[in-house]
Amino acid sequence: MALSLLADYSSDGTDSDSDDGISVVINKNPQQKKQHTRTERTRPPPRTKRPAAAQSGKVKTKFSRSESVLDNSHNPEYDEPQESIPLPSTVLTMFDKTEEQEALDSAVFHKGRVRSFPHEKNNWASFIYIDVSDLELDEVRSWLVKELDLEPTEDTHVSLSRTVSLRHHWIDPVIQGISQGFKDVDRFTIKLDKLAVYLNDERTRTFVGLEATGGVPQLSKLSKAVDVVLRDFSLPPFYYPPSFHVSLGWCLGNRLKDIHPQLSSLELKMLDVIEEVDDFGKLFVKAAHCKSGNRFFDFKLK
Ligand code: AMP
Repeated sequence: MALSLLADYSSDGTDSDSDDGISVVINKNPQQKKQHTRTERTRPPPRTKRPAAAQSGKVKTKFSRSESVLDNSHNPEYDEPQESIPLPSTVLTMFDKTEEQEALDSAVFHKGRVRSFPHEKNNWASFIYIDVSDLELDEVRSWLVKELDLEPTEDTHVSLSRTVSLRHHWIDPVIQGISQGFKDVDRFTIKLDKLAVYLNDERTRTFVGLEATGGVPQLSKLSKAVDVVLRDFSLPPFYYPPSFHVSLGWCLGNRLKDIHPQLSSLELKMLDVIEEVDDFGKLFVKAAHCKSGNRFFDFKLK
């Protein structure tokens, strides 16, 4: 879930505007996007650090001696220091991860989250979304995660697709197709103000967020246009029925039964939290975006 914004990016990436109206940004960290001041958002661990679940021993990365399928615990070869022959650097680095693999792995395993599909070399986790980080949601996010004992989400988006795995050579045709599909969609106003709870497909994580009550026809149009493009690559469509939303908090496990009955009373309490925010949850949407691995694409609406 974790991920993604384009506007406001400042320095360290390459920006290119092409003739077809698609902007591309490479290797920008969406977490560098402006942060509202009232709460501090959790930042992902540096790429060099082992993922949290691996640190806690939940994820096996490589065989260590004690994890080996061979029981070498009483093998004297391991007890005596051996004189070793230095290995060539090509051998020493052959199992090193590429930067994009590291980025994917740390994103996916962070805080015990599990990947929905296995990572294969040359496959890029990708999704299409609306950036709603300009909404004032920090206060309501802090309140909600406290009420329900959740982790705050790290980015603020409304998904228009599932997260799919794109082979590298599919990225360009997918982006071109989406750009075509979006070209006749007018800018619109989204309103996100209805509390809702979600489960991921594996039912291993619960999300709580704000569902869209305004702009739904336009969101559906955009999402359907994405479905049409992804279908050509045998990739799955968005949820049916869709529930366009911004996730604000999440937790491991299936807490649907516990959280769902609380939503109406929480919504009443939420009124107090948001009373000072003008037009809470309302944003004029001028663009949609795609994140594919470490690349960001920006589609301007009409
Ligand atoms: P997101 O905030 O877009 O990452 O979505 C959070 C979770 O909501 C995802 O893991 C989806 O699997 C889940 N979800 C479950 N049902 C739906 C639905 N009807 N529409 C959209 N997302 C859904």
